[in-house]
Amino acid sequence: MNDYMQVRFDVEPCSEMATDVLAAVLAEIGYESFVPDERGVTAFVPQGKYDETRLKEELSQYPIGGVSVTYEATFVAGRDWNEEWEKNYFKPIVVGDECVIHSTFHTDIPQARYDVLIDPKMAFGTGHHETTTLMLQAILASDLTGRSVLDMGCGTAVLGILARMKGAASVVAVDIDEFAVENAIENIRLNHVSGVEVRLGGIEALKQESFDFIFANINRNILLADMHAYVACMKRGSRIFMSGFYVEDIPFIRAEAEHLGLRFVGYAEKNRWVAVECMSD
Ligand code: SAH
Repeated sequence: MNDYMQVRFDVEPCSEMATDVLAAVLAEIGYESFVPDERGVTAFVPQGKYDETRLKEELSQYPIGGVSVTYEATFVAGRDWNEEWEKNYFKPIVVGDECVIHSTFHTDIPQARYDVLIDPKMAFGTGHHETTTLMLQAILASDLTGRSVLDMGCGTAVLGILARMKGAASVVAVDIDEFAVENAIENIRLNHVSGVEVRLGGIEALKQESFDFIFANINRNILLADMHAYVACMKRGSRIFMSGFYVEDIPFIRAEAEHLGLRFVGYAEKNRWVAVECMSD
C-alpha cells in the first residue's frame, strides 16, 4: 500500500529551471515529491501510478530544447522504508522547546510541556520531517483553546494529538490510508487523549461541518485538488495551515486559496519545505 518507485532523473545541462519544469511535468502524472540537486532530481511516485510508457511519452515532449533527461527507477517497499525509518531516524525530538515527540522504545526523553508519544508503525508523522515540524510549530503558536480542529491527512495523528493537548475542544482526524487510521487510533490511545474522532477517507469523509482550524499536511497536487472541500468546512475567522510542498509551489497554492475566497496570511519555511497559512474573513 505504501510502496513507492524512486526515480532518479539526470538532467543535462542541469539548471534550476530545467528541474522545476521536469517536476511540474512529473507532478501531472502522479509524482508526489521531488528532491532536486545540482545534477537533476529524485522523484517519488506511488508504485500503482508508475507508468513507464506514459513517462517516456512525457519526457519525449519535455518542453525545453537541448536538454537531455535520463532516468533510473528503483522500487521502495513501504514496510522496509518504515522499518529503516524507525530504526535510524526516529529519535525523540523537541519542537519549539515546548513539545517533545518520542516513541515507546525511547528511554532518554527530554522534558517539555507537551509530551507526545508516537509509535509510527507504517504511518507518516514522527515530527522529523520538515513539514511535520512546521505544522507542529504552527499548532504551538496558535491559541486552540475551545476550538474545533480538522487534522486532514493525519498519518500518526501527531498534529491532532498535540492540538487536543493544547486545549482544542474537538479534533477530527482523517486519512485515506487504512494503516494510518489504525496507527492514529493507537497513538490517540497511547496518549490518553479523548475527543479525537478518526475517519478513513479523503474529502468524502467530511460532512457538512465547520472547523476553526484546519491542518492539512499532504502534498501540492492533493491540496490543489481538494482545497475546495476544506474551504467548505471553514467559516468566518477559520484558519487553514497547509504543508507538504516547496517554496516554489506557494504561488499555485496561494492562487487556488484566493480563488476560493481565502486570504493568504503568510508562510514558514524549513529547508525549502513550507507551511502556508490562510484565513477566511
Ligand atoms: N499529518 C501528519 C502526516 C502527514 S503525511 C504530519 O503532519 O506529519 C500525509 C498523510 O496524508 C498520509 O498519511 C497520507 O496517507 C494522507 N493522505 C494522502 N492523500 C490524502 C487525501 N486525499 N485525503 C486525506 N489524506 C490523504
